[in-house]
Amino acid sequence: MFVGHYGPSFVVKAIRPAIPLWLLFIAVQLVDVAWAVLVLLGIEKVRIVPGITASNPLDLYYMPYTHSLVAGGLWAMAAIVFCKSLPGVRTWPAAAWIGLAVFSHWVLDWLVHRPDLPLYDDTMKVGLGIWNYPAIALSLEALFLFGGLIMYLRRTKAINAIGRFGAPAFGILMLAIQCYVFFGPPPTSPGAAAITALVSYAIFAAVAQWLDRQRTHAAV
Ligand SMILES: [Zn+2]
Repeated sequence: MFVGHYGPSFVVKAIRPAIPLWLLFIAVQLVDVAWAVLVLLGIEKVRIVPGITASNPLDLYYMPYTHSLVAGGLWAMAAIVFCKSLPGVRTWPAAAWIGLAVFSHWVLDWLVHRPDLPLYDDTMKVGLGIWNYPAIALSLEALFLFGGLIMYLRRTKAINAIGRFGAPAFGILMLAIQCYVFFGPPPTSPGAAAITALVSYAIFAAVAQWLDRQRTHAAV
């Protein structure tokens, strides 16, 4: 899953307005950020196999440190401990929401991945394989993204025109990027896939943070 991961970040932002949106955008993709770094370091392994699923050409054959269920839980716990002292978080309940956002990544990945997600280490791999049904996979991405985004828009109020039109336009742009990922050319190499992921996650987090500044959470 790609843009659908941002649904939970908007939901948490709607419930816990003090947590910065950029932090939630990184949280929901934290295990993919770690994955990209470990792929670049040659520790986790992926190869490009066009057709391995109908909409995603990545053969993610070794990723025990980022995408096992146990690893997902450990990354979530690490995020809770790390974020507890950050501005806008400060309390364990707020940090727990960030942990939940981190863990949501594994659950949403489980829906779409082929069985390449280990329960622990590199064994007992699971995944419902919805990537093999591109129309359903794309609908799920849109459902999660816009479900979260609409909840966020209802709990906040635009303070200017950018605030009014920016967030919905950003959602549509993200979905367009998702279509390109699904139906465009495959990445040229594992390193290119990893760098593309890192750059997109950083840009998405920065844009989301900027757009959030154009809306207010007070007295909606
Ligand atoms: Zn992932």
